[in-house]
Amino acid sequence: FMLVCDGSNGAGKTTVIKKIETYLTNKGFDVLLTREPGGTPIGERIRSIILDPDSSEMLDITELMLFGAARAQHIQEKIVPALNQGKVVVCDRFDAATISFQHYARGIDINIINQVNNLALAGFSPDMNIILDLDPIIGLERVKSRGDGLDRMEDEKLDFLNRARDGYLQQAKACPEKFTVIDASQSQESVANEVISVLEQLIKQ
Ligand code: C5P
Ligand code: MG
Repeated sequence: FMLVCDGSNGAGKTTVIKKIETYLTNKGFDVLLTREPGGTPIGERIRSIILDPDSSEMLDITELMLFGAARAQHIQEKIVPALNQGKVVVCDRFDAATISFQHYARGIDINIINQVNNLALAGFSPDMNIILDLDPIIGLERVKSRGDGLDRMEDEKLDFLNRARDGYLQQAKACPEKFTVIDASQSQESVANEVISVLEQLIKQ
């Protein structure tokens, strides 16, 4: 199966993903960890174009199609082959991020988003999205304290990040069978416990 970990910037995706990997590996699963944008050599090159603070002249539509291009490459080159080999794929962000950031936050028409997502996905869909939900004020503080500089999106205004957050919550409401929202302001232990109960459900299916 394929599990996506997604949500607000600074919500703790990296920590949660490591815990998911440890948990699944201990259960005997062969785990492939990957991320978007990126995941393949071509995708990682696209990622650096998208996130570069110097890409400030990038058009919204260019950004959207770059995400789509990286995703198409990712699915065909890496994700589907791994699933076919019986691996569990755990991905840091996926198509829900495009709806949240490029539609809800950036304001691109949802029909255009869907066209690009549909082209990239070609019928593919992850089994579950874990959404780590956090107030962007707290998230931004955490991101800044990381000290590795802000990427082009992290440097957006708070209301942009709030709209993206709302986008995840709306998607989760519309499709509860593919989304689990976890309050990322809780202790790491509580977040981990909620994540593990999602994993237990997925394993049973
Ligand atoms: O997952 P990570 O936080 O490393 O994502 C890198 C950056 O790309 C973040 O600033 C995120 O907000 C942004 N992003 C985006 N649109 C997407 C996926 C990620 O703006 N569809
Ligand atoms: Mg990150």
